[in-house]
Amino acid sequence: MLIPCLACDSRFVPDDYFRACSSYHRGMDLVSWTCPRCGNRDDLRVLPGELGFGYPHQGRYDVLARVRVPGLRRQRGDMRLDISLGRVSWRVPAGRRPA
Ligand SMILES: [Zn+2]
Repeated sequence: MLIPCLACDSRFVPDDYFRACSSYHRGMDLVSWTCPRCGNRDDLRVLPGELGFGYPHQGRYDVLARVRVPGLRRQRGDMRLDISLGRVSWRVPAGRRPA
């Protein structure tokens, strides 16, 4: 299972991909991600079994593209988002709203 960067098409194993998540914006339900290869910064929504990519629009976030990640799970906390896949999990701390 490899997850692509939508900017440069590099593909990452889940551990490398999710460790590049820097902060979670709870209000918009978005995770900030920076590509370790090309440096592109993106916002994405972690959903059960997939990642959603899109654009903020009138205070909402419209998901336009989805990348399937079978088995992906998420759990929202007050100050973080926990992402898990199989027996591995990653904790993304809540931060400022995406630019
Ligand atoms: Zn990239």
